[in-house]
Amino acid sequence: MEHKMAIIGYGGMGSWHAENVSSRIDNISVKGIFDIQKNAQEKAQSQGLYIYKSLEELLADTEIDLVTIATPNDSHKAYAISLLEAGKNVICEKPVTMNVAELEEIIAAAKKSGKVFSVHQNRRWDKDFVIIKTILNQGGLNNPYFIESRVQGSRGAMHGWRGHKINGGGMVLDWGVHLLDQFLNLIDSPVVSVLAHLFNLYSDEVEDNIKILLRFENGVSALCEMSTNCLINNPRWHVSCIDGTAVIEDWSCAGKIVKLKSDSQMNWSEDIVYTEAGPTRTMAPRPEYTTEVLALPEVTTDWSDYYKNIVNVIDGLEELIVRPEQSLRVMKVIEKVFESEKSGMGVKCHI
Ligand code: NAD
Repeated sequence: MEHKMAIIGYGGMGSWHAENVSSRIDNISVKGIFDIQKNAQEKAQSQGLYIYKSLEELLADTEIDLVTIATPNDSHKAYAISLLEAGKNVICEKPVTMNVAELEEIIAAAKKSGKVFSVHQNRRWDKDFVIIKTILNQGGLNNPYFIESRVQGSRGAMHGWRGHKINGGGMVLDWGVHLLDQFLNLIDSPVVSVLAHLFNLYSDEVEDNIKILLRFENGVSALCEMSTNCLINNPRWHVSCIDGTAVIEDWSCAGKIVKLKSDSQMNWSEDIVYTEAGPTRTMAPRPEYTTEVLALPEVTTDWSDYYKNIVNVIDGLEELIVRPEQSLRVMKVIEKVFESEKSGMGVKCHI
């Protein structure tokens, strides 16, 4: 079935949606946009898109059955509810809302309308994430116990509306929501505690550098780091498992797995090794013959599967991949992040 889409908010991400949906999704055509800024309207018009004069005009357009919301975070809730009530299917940019209560209102509106509602958690299709998921789910490594995930820049402040609390700015709602969503999809166990340290290095209003430590009920811990002030990067991913370690260095997905060989027949562990740290057994490296270096698995992943899934759900052919209740879980963890920062302590939970 053919679908016609509109976009609310035609800035960086709104125009990205228009371009990518138009060029990569066969059965959606982007008809028009609604944006409050003249420059955004002019840009869209120059690209052949229709400019809605008001939200009401868009809501009343019966040709449109799918709307993507790509405005600053504080306006997502009101738009999402109006659109659902008008019978539109809705994709909302992340973070879907500023808190759990707002998202619960949207979910109630979505249930009442019977329309599709999903959050654009596009980073579930990132190659680095899919590689880590493949390593852990398909036996590349087993029994993970500590997983580090980080994104690192060095340009300092959060820009524009992202620097203002009232607009839903700050790094937790910007990148935190992606990294947390990835972890909740990677580790199949409830989060039982959250410890966060949020730094306002460049902004008075919002956090711009953050560290979050999650503990899961199955014994796995996860560290999320987001920095705008990192001048020497750590790896994008570092995964510690009982039988080995995996590293992805950066967005290019350079990295490797080092896996222990079965060493029951090898007699080396009692040797004292003379290292620069002095004589030691525990802190010396293993002999090389006890490990093997493996390449990261080859994966294929395609962001456009997000939109293809939305279309198939609207057409009644598939189940939704990014489900509202998953986004609700992420928002619940985010509330614990802020609670932990406020108290300066770890917060127990069962999410
Ligand atoms: P932006 O500032 O580049 O664009 C926002 C646009 O919304 C602007 O054109 C502005 O005029 C318009 N706007 C502002 N308030 C509005 C309102 N009340 N009604 C209608 N239009 C309004 O911001 P951006 O970087 O495109 O971010 C937009 C959303 O996309 C945010 O929620 C952000 O978190 C999200 N985002 C997601 C990703 C991702 O990878 N999924 C990446 C970047 C941004």
